[in-house]
Amino acid sequence: MAEDYRQMWKELGLDLGAHDSLLEVLGKGYKDIYMTQENRPDGMKYFDFVISQVHGARIKELLDGKARGRKVIGSFCVFVPEEIVRATDSTLVGLCTGAEFGTEEVERVLPRNTCALIKSAFGFKLGKVCPYIESADMIVGENTCDGKKKSYEVLKELVPNLYVMDIPQMKSVQGRSLLKAEYQRFKTAVEELTGVGIDAERLRKGIEIVNNKRRAIHRLASLRKADPAPISGLDALLANQVFFYDEPVRFTNSVNSICDELEQRAKNGRGVFPEGTPRILLSGCPMAVPNWKLPWIIETSGAVIVGEESCVGERGTRNLVDESGNTVEELMEAIVDRYFQIDCAIFTPNPERLNHITEMYNQYNAHGVIHYCLNFCQPYQVEAMEVEKELEAKGIPVLRIDTDYSMEDMGQLKTRVEAFIEQIS
Ligand code: SF4
Ligand code: SF4
Repeated sequence: MAEDYRQMWKELGLDLGAHDSLLEVLGKGYKDIYMTQENRPDGMKYFDFVISQVHGARIKELLDGKARGRKVIGSFCVFVPEEIVRATDSTLVGLCTGAEFGTEEVERVLPRNTCALIKSAFGFKLGKVCPYIESADMIVGENTCDGKKKSYEVLKELVPNLYVMDIPQMKSVQGRSLLKAEYQRFKTAVEELTGVGIDAERLRKGIEIVNNKRRAIHRLASLRKADPAPISGLDALLANQVFFYDEPVRFTNSVNSICDELEQRAKNGRGVFPEGTPRILLSGCPMAVPNWKLPWIIETSGAVIVGEESCVGERGTRNLVDESGNTVEELMEAIVDRYFQIDCAIFTPNPERLNHITEMYNQYNAHGVIHYCLNFCQPYQVEAMEVEKELEAKGIPVLRIDTDYSMEDMGQLKTRVEAFIEQIS
């Protein structure tokens, strides 16, 4: 891949030496973590291909689209409504925030005690190794947690096209009005960027495309209720991660074809791990590509992950947008209704999330919950205490993990995870 795309990366302004090192580390990590799994569904070959081409063929596809006038919009959060972007035939891509890069340089512009996800976004920009950031015509920053909100003031100096979206912090009437006003403002900004006016037909089409993507992911999630689990948590997480990068219709078809295969597996009682393997629900901060550390530890310690209560997972894909509206106004209301239900820890209070964790624990027949937080993530770390208290009161085993993207705590994490799995076995 490197030889074919070097010119393209150079033209995007990437630092080719640093980028080579990144691809080497990513390729090795993927091989060690993903390709050593046994009994993988055949359909995962598509996702192996997507990851192998994540900086190659997919970027070329985006750039070819740009040459034909199709814009690329980058985002860091599931609050950015893809439906509005799709309505102008533009592409929304998630920006990589799952690996450590250029930490020294990052800590010159951000405090050390910033979460790894934010530092990663800055590291990829400062290190000039992310072709998605460099391809984007607009980068959307959202006012969610304080870390992100304030860091966008710094990012604004580093990228020419940052658009900041305000996000409410309370599920009140005023909060919903703010979200609606911000989505209207975003719609206008996307129309201006693309030169495409969004009418009801375009918006409905955008909604249908994104809903179909979510329906496919819901189908995949539902198949994980079976024991033995027909797909590993690592592979299901990968599908949820690719959700943010891939061409949406192709992605939907690929997930649906994996689901056909998994239905067959479930009928034959075939799983990735033996029947009776301890089942874990993961809950907490989002795991962006290539953050596979904790799932890998869990699934090489004798358990299987059966669900992710996360924005790269069920929190991000739960609920569809009502497609029945006839006017732009009705469809925009439906979009606001759907997104306003996201139970991110930036909201206060946030009781829906506690309910969803228990609901998912029961639905996926889990035996325990591992609550995962990035160090210095105040919203999720504070909420973790409440989650732990609530689950313990219900007799649900829970383990709280705080970590980052470094590999230094691997041994310690493995010991704690193994002890937890032993306890729920
Ligand atoms: S956890 Fe909150 S801030 Fe992060 S992606 Fe999800 S909704 Fe956005
Ligand atoms: S992990 Fe936490 S601190 Fe980091 S960006 Fe997400 S909500 Fe903010």
